[in-house]
Amino acid sequence: MTNLMQEQFKNEMITLLNLKQNTYKEVVYDYTYWDEFVSTIKNKDNEWYQSNISSILGSFHADYVCVYDTALNLIYEDGSPDLLSRNFITLETLKALQGKRFINYFQVLPEGTISINAASIHPTSDPTHSKTKPEGYLFVIKLWGDDFIDKLIPISGAKIKIIPPHDSIIESNPNYITVTHTLTSWDEEPVAQMHFSKEFRAIFVFRQMSLVIFITLMLSIIITWLLLYFITKHWVRKPLKLVSELLITEKHELIPELLKAPGEFKLIGNLFKLLFKQNKELQEAKEKAEENEKLKTAFLANMAHEIRTPMNGILGFSELLKNRNLSKQKQEEFLNIIEDSGNKLLYIINNLVDISKIEAGQMKVILEKTNLNEIIDYIYHFFGPKIEKYNMQLACSKGLAQDLAFVNTDHDKINAILINLVNNAIKYSQRGTITFGYRLKDSCIEFFVKDEGQGIEKNMQESIFERFIQVEKSIFKANEGSGLGLTISKSYVEMLGGKIWVESEPGKGSQFFFSIPCQS
Ligand code: ADP
Repeated sequence: MTNLMQEQFKNEMITLLNLKQNTYKEVVYDYTYWDEFVSTIKNKDNEWYQSNISSILGSFHADYVCVYDTALNLIYEDGSPDLLSRNFITLETLKALQGKRFINYFQVLPEGTISINAASIHPTSDPTHSKTKPEGYLFVIKLWGDDFIDKLIPISGAKIKIIPPHDSIIESNPNYITVTHTLTSWDEEPVAQMHFSKEFRAIFVFRQMSLVIFITLMLSIIITWLLLYFITKHWVRKPLKLVSELLITEKHELIPELLKAPGEFKLIGNLFKLLFKQNKELQEAKEKAEENEKLKTAFLANMAHEIRTPMNGILGFSELLKNRNLSKQKQEEFLNIIEDSGNKLLYIINNLVDISKIEAGQMKVILEKTNLNEIIDYIYHFFGPKIEKYNMQLACSKGLAQDLAFVNTDHDKINAILINLVNNAIKYSQRGTITFGYRLKDSCIEFFVKDEGQGIEKNMQESIFERFIQVEKSIFKANEGSGLGLTISKSYVEMLGGKIWVESEPGKGSQFFFSIPCQS
């Protein structure tokens, strides 16, 4: 804005100076196409000069006038009391005027800086000063002294000074605009400078406004910055820090805090929650797979052992039987061992076939009208010899009368489950009484097999129904088994629409239950 004002101020001042100079340019122009002037140069009429040329000094407030003939001799000069210097027009200027017809320039004299306007003189018929040859030269000089400047000051409203060409004035008041205009000689050499300075209230107001605007702007920037700082802290930086902390430390406790965060971070918090849940599930699945793998390996090793033992029995005692000298009693004993080993092998193989059928989804349920009491009686008699062998007692309980004990279910599966449970009860007790049977409970038939054996630790009571699980054999060395019996039983019970569970106290005994829907 200051530059704009400065530009405008300079233009105004130059226009003013041009106006002042134009007066003398016009005077010089008007006087120099004049027949009378041309003839006066020839006959050197001093009186004519005095009345016509010197009058310029009074009429136009000029300070010096002079006339030269074509031989560049000074033939007339006159000046005001303010300008006493005489004959100061240089030969070079005169020669320059010969060619140009009009010149105006500045020169510095002891009295001050003067503005010189000159033109060649021609007849009245040649106002353009170009058709005829010059008949002489007229110079009109104005002294730009204190008087002249004093008159300019009120018109311009500015402080004006004429200073040497290479000087400069430093204005201390910031509300002032200063401009300088160089005054040049006839050959464009700087001879002096016009220095104008003017107070512009607008600058003061503008500066004040700029200051207010600057302070307001700075304050807005600071407030915006602070707002941004706190907003980003709350909305972005704090939650981002939480996110990176979560990524690094995987601390679940940080998730609720992230869920409280605004906007998208809540979503990220939920994603973390999901991710951690999936990670946990994955970890559990991995552990389970590893555990299964271990169990499978242990199962296979055990199975190999379980198969090899009766096989060795069969092969070993068959070999012994070849001896013809064996007593009848020995032969019978060996045959019993071979039969026993064969049954064990068959049991294992049956279990393996059953579990693979179950896993392949090929095990079918055959529902038929089944008399439960008959199953109980069959089991009772089936285990009679074994019970006797271990010197145990077997008791059974029937929940329904013979003619009411009919249920629509899979006879063979109920049979197999009960055989398995009673067999286990004998295997893991080898003492006391085994009680088994069924009772009607709500709309179900609830079977049970109770023993007084080693019992099962609380933490194993669920897993024994899973594949390949065998509780560490500790008490009875004879507790061989495939670890598949309860798994098969559980699958059968579920196929029949029921459930199986155990209640047991280690050292005191176990009671296995399974229920099936009661539909006759
Ligand atoms: P196994 O062929 O080993 O008997 P099961 O699936 O029938 O396989 O039984 C799994 C495990 O459950 C057994 O190894 C045993 O540790 C435990 N178990 C089953 N029945 C009894 C029971 N009546 N008393 C104590 N432990 C039992």
